[in-house]
Amino acid sequence: MTRSAGSYCGRFAPSPTGPLHFGSLLAALASYLDARAHGGRWLLRVEDIDPPREQAGASRAIIDSLRAHRLHWDGPVCYQHTRSGAYDEALEALERKGLLRRCYCPRRVLGPDGACGGRCGGEGEGPAALRVRVDPAWPTAFEDRFQGPVAATALPEDFVVRRRDGLYAYQLAVVVDDHAQGITDVVRGADLLSVTPRQRYLQACLGYRSPRYAHCPVLLGSDGRKLSKQNHAPPLDDGCAGANLRRALELLAQPPAPATAATPSALLEHAVRHWAPAALAGKAALPGDRLYPPPGIS
Ligand code: GLU
Repeated sequence: MTRSAGSYCGRFAPSPTGPLHFGSLLAALASYLDARAHGGRWLLRVEDIDPPREQAGASRAIIDSLRAHRLHWDGPVCYQHTRSGAYDEALEALERKGLLRRCYCPRRVLGPDGACGGRCGGEGEGPAALRVRVDPAWPTAFEDRFQGPVAATALPEDFVVRRRDGLYAYQLAVVVDDHAQGITDVVRGADLLSVTPRQRYLQACLGYRSPRYAHCPVLLGSDGRKLSKQNHAPPLDDGCAGANLRRALELLAQPPAPATAATPSALLEHAVRHWAPAALAGKAALPGDRLYPPPGIS
């Protein structure tokens, strides 16, 4: 699929579960640079559809960090909590196509990947989860711009698009919003590579054109897992935006900026001009434990 440079539209879509950390900066930066290097637009979407997982003040902190790092987005911020109408319309479209089924299974009987095996037979008490009917023969292989060809994998059995508690599933919301915002290129962390086939399947069910995907490396904590709030990734220090950007560019194996690029804006300008996505080919994870000084050393 070819798209003219001018039609590029990318996005950064953080969940406000905590402030940005270095791992999230890598994803934001790769997505920003790819969009700007293509002369494209870059949008910001706050994925606040899961209030129990949200942290008070996190949306504000994320926005402040992006501003401090001069990662300026185009247009207004899209907040997913305002988008229920669009998600309901998508659910209705799936229903009309006979692609939804109701599930009353309690969480404790669900198998790996949330599969229910149709145990409840669509009958039960109380509110139902909505699941999309999965066609196991659907071709899931796709080409990732950074990771290369991604081999076919089995889609999880009829996965949830609206939960029993009434909250919309991330898979549904992300697909509806990527479509509504005209996103042509999704650049995000490789931790989301495994859910991309689900998103591409939903796009096909809804008759949407799939964006191109490019998954950049995630930073690993000292426990070998993706750097996150759970393994105590410290929040980005917005007071060191220039140093953070330099380090992030180095981790993304980008050509070093000259010392004269002394401000965050100058560093970004250089990085956009010299954006070398080939440096990320096949890199899905990077050790992140040398990013921060050990406790006690300042
Ligand atoms: N909101 C997701 C997260 O913060 C990212 C969604 C996406 O980029 O598709 O992990």
